[in-house]
Amino acid sequence: MKEVDRSLAEEYILLAFAIEEHMPGYVDAYFGPQTWQEQAKQAGKPPLQDLTERTARLANDISQADGMDAQRKDFLARQVKGMQMSLRLLRGEMVPLAEEVEALYDVQPVWVDESNFEQAHKELDYLLPRGGSLAERKQEWNRALEIPVEKAKELLPAIIKRLRDLTRQKFNLPDAEDFTLEFVSDRPWSAYNWYLGGFRSRIDINTDLPLQINELANLIAHEGYPGHHTELSIKEQKLVTEKNYYEHTIALINSPSCVVSEGIATSALEALFTDDTLNAWYRDEFLPRANMSHIDSKRIVEIGNALKKAGGIMGNVSFMLYDQHKSEAEAERYLQRYALSTEKERKHLIRFVSNPLSRSYVFTYDIGYDLLEELFAHGDHDQYFKRLLEEPVTPGQIREWIQKDS
Ligand SMILES: [Zn+2]
Repeated sequence: MKEVDRSLAEEYILLAFAIEEHMPGYVDAYFGPQTWQEQAKQAGKPPLQDLTERTARLANDISQADGMDAQRKDFLARQVKGMQMSLRLLRGEMVPLAEEVEALYDVQPVWVDESNFEQAHKELDYLLPRGGSLAERKQEWNRALEIPVEKAKELLPAIIKRLRDLTRQKFNLPDAEDFTLEFVSDRPWSAYNWYLGGFRSRIDINTDLPLQINELANLIAHEGYPGHHTELSIKEQKLVTEKNYYEHTIALINSPSCVVSEGIATSALEALFTDDTLNAWYRDEFLPRANMSHIDSKRIVEIGNALKKAGGIMGNVSFMLYDQHKSEAEAERYLQRYALSTEKERKHLIRFVSNPLSRSYVFTYDIGYDLLEELFAHGDHDQYFKRLLEEPVTPGQIREWIQKDS
């Protein structure tokens, strides 16, 4: 690696830590050189004007970095563009939410028409056991799938093993990788992967809301295999250890890489299972082990698929709160109607979307999922998934791959 490329990565990391000083939570993970973190700490909280100028300089230096690998250059340029928007927001600029999301994440968010959610409701109406209103039937179904935390702890090792084995067969998981699990409460998210570097993570599971049997596999796939932990481990190996791309020693919350990460995570379980193999796993192993064989495994899979079609609700809620200036009560009513959620779930979702860091983040899940679904429809699924795990990919690059293969 050229010295100039290393210094660009260093400045990128120093700037990220400086933004973190103004916006705690911005740096999600860091396992790069300790001296850079210390250097940033010593600099304290630099004035936003200075950071704005430094970021503009960095963007310019990246654009002039002749000979830098094109994919790497594109990744850095788009990440820095996200930083520039974060700084504008920190300076108090009022920006329409769509513009904020586009600059932060390199994707264009749109209002999702309610007919999509109504279509999902139609399917749920067909699939859910009979009872009262559709919301009551969904909640009743969820209650039937609830398991105590102790039971979840008992079931998780076998689930983790299964998903790790399947991930290992398909993708280049580093030998030394591992994660630990913690159960926590009073958090705005339902689960979180904290990447620690050295191919290690800690996955936190929030027990504020009841855990459901069908969520366990999804959760481990999303956070662990082949989701966040897998992606970060493989990228550490392929990009940091093998290529010295130091910018991959840091993960930023509001940046284009989040769309790729959440796209990988939300389609992680589907990368390992078809509907049929997932159904067979639930039916033959997973449900009997939980003493829940009375539940129809096929229905679990089909209801899960129908719910996926209701994606986009949280993005709409964010538009309502931040662009349309609707009240939280109105947003709650919207969630009640379209997400068919309980009051406790609604409060949890509103809390998540009310955080300034996550009001735009909510878009990354559904947009990431849809973007990858479109990509996978154009070519070999596993080959593409492997590339997403190994390369410094941006949403813009994925759109180019789709166009090239069309
Ligand atoms: Zn995630």
